[in-house]
Amino acid sequence: MVERRGVGRGRPASFGNRMSLARPVVIGNWKMNGLRADGLARAEALLDRLARAPDEGTLGICPPATLLAPIADRIGGQGLLLGGQDCSSERKGAHTGDISAAMLTDVGCKLVIVGHSERRHGHGEGDALVRAKAEAALQAGLDVILCIGETEEEWQAGRTTEVLDRQIEGSLPAGASAGRVIVAYEPVWAIGTGRTPSTVDIGRTHAHIRARLVDLVTQGADLRLLYGGSVKAKNAGEIMAAGDVEGVLVGGASLDADEFWAIFEAGRASGRG
Ligand code: PEP
Repeated sequence: MVERRGVGRGRPASFGNRMSLARPVVIGNWKMNGLRADGLARAEALLDRLARAPDEGTLGICPPATLLAPIADRIGGQGLLLGGQDCSSERKGAHTGDISAAMLTDVGCKLVIVGHSERRHGHGEGDALVRAKAEAALQAGLDVILCIGETEEEWQAGRTTEVLDRQIEGSLPAGASAGRVIVAYEPVWAIGTGRTPSTVDIGRTHAHIRARLVDLVTQGADLRLLYGGSVKAKNAGEIMAAGDVEGVLVGGASLDADEFWAIFEAGRASGRG
């Protein structure tokens, strides 16, 4: 029996309510890659293409924290979304090395990733902390990309849906509304490995996630669902054509502006077909 925590009900007024992001939603996670010159060059290359392309879809990047300010200055009001890769659950204070959600908003971010597997598994972050981070982000006016995903061992054992259910119930923030929270399904074993589930499996898993969200959240039918894990230009179109996949979260391939743009184009083409 799913424990209902009133997620999506009684939303604090300060959480606001934005329009949904246009499909496809393609977000690049640069991770700990890039110095100022190459990061700016990559952002410039994407801005150039966006300026020439018709207004369709949502493209965003999550550079390392050190590059947020210079890239925000370069982006100005143009249509490339800027996001952080993580934020603190705390508002401020003695938290050496951490970055608050308000600091991300202040520098020009519109969104933040929380619960990435490299945080969950590399830094021991559990569901409660991920939820607290997501709620801090919403309070600060950021949209949230909440990552969930099973390990290879869990996948092999056929425990994928059980793990995802636990992560959804444990880390989905109170106040999750369709315009503010995106859920990214990222199988840990697919991240950076060149391996992906079949598109049938991705569609099936997203349908399961959708059902859980509908059960838990008032706007569960409308929350955006992204897939992440070894998305490249060559597989992006078929992945984004799978059921309930409204976009992708891209790691390695987002470090190459041509490849990342090709992924975005593939998503736009899959939406037209
Ligand atoms: C990620 O880290 O979110 C990711 C999807 O990585 P990659 O695309 O490199 O597998």
